[in-house]
Amino acid sequence: MEINEKKRLSEYGFSFKKAYGQNFLTDENLLTRIVEKAGVDKNVSVLEIGCGAGALTKILCKKAGFVLGYEIDTRLKPVLKDALSSFDNYEIVYKDVLKEDMKKIEKELGGDYILVANLPYYITTDIVMAFLENASMVTGMVIMVQEEVAKRFSAKPSSSDYGAITVAINLRGEAEIIERVPREKFTPSPNVDSAVVKITVDKNKNADVDKTAVRNVVRTGFNNRRKMFINNLMKDYKLDRNTAENVLIKAGVPLTARGETFSAEQYITLSEILKDYEK
Ligand code: SAM
Repeated sequence: MEINEKKRLSEYGFSFKKAYGQNFLTDENLLTRIVEKAGVDKNVSVLEIGCGAGALTKILCKKAGFVLGYEIDTRLKPVLKDALSSFDNYEIVYKDVLKEDMKKIEKELGGDYILVANLPYYITTDIVMAFLENASMVTGMVIMVQEEVAKRFSAKPSSSDYGAITVAINLRGEAEIIERVPREKFTPSPNVDSAVVKITVDKNKNADVDKTAVRNVVRTGFNNRRKMFINNLMKDYKLDRNTAENVLIKAGVPLTARGETFSAEQYITLSEILKDYEK
């Protein structure tokens, strides 16, 4: 079923703000599928980032135990209040989610939760990185992102879409594209197609790994991704060729390999060997 958001919003004198990435979803079946794929039920708490006019929030409130929403645009207050008038299992915070303290978000959610969102595209990567690196109770993310970004999230080593963000995801879980979504499904339509991605997050995976050390090696691996890793390594860690070769031999990776071919596990191994060398 198609939701006529434009008409509903015009009754509030609302105009879309491009700078906030306001492309609202209008296909109720698609929204329902997103919530189903996220595995939301009454035992689950959900964090939604960017509630917009509440199309997704409403379905989440119906299915979830509790919904915590963030919305930067206070003009949407009356719109959301009306859309959610029949529910009492939610709280909306009108604030830039990136300026919020992660501990505060997680305290409000009170335990494990799933992030479900049609994300504002200008900060998709920042949000995903923040939750991968700083959240301790998120168990999954089912998010709408630009299709090109979705491909990067779920890419395999050695492919052109594989990058630092893919490694960051694989350090804590894995991503899969669930569904492609054509641009016409949004009001107003963005210039690109989108996709729904599911990222499963395993809280215990690599919990004891030094994340800063891994991040540093990953940066070295993808800085000049077309170059052999050994050259980037020598430059960034100020190593002579002999030492750099020994690091790679110890890590069990070919001396001629490029950083874009390494799995998350290989980056962890490299970071452990490199902990004695300063970047
Ligand atoms: N959930 C709605 C839907 O699916 O139709 C709206 C999604 S729209 C793509 C993204 C929403 O995120 C907008 O309502 C926008 O105002 C909000 N937003 C943008 N930047 C934000 C931020 N930094 N923190 C919280 N919300 C933000």
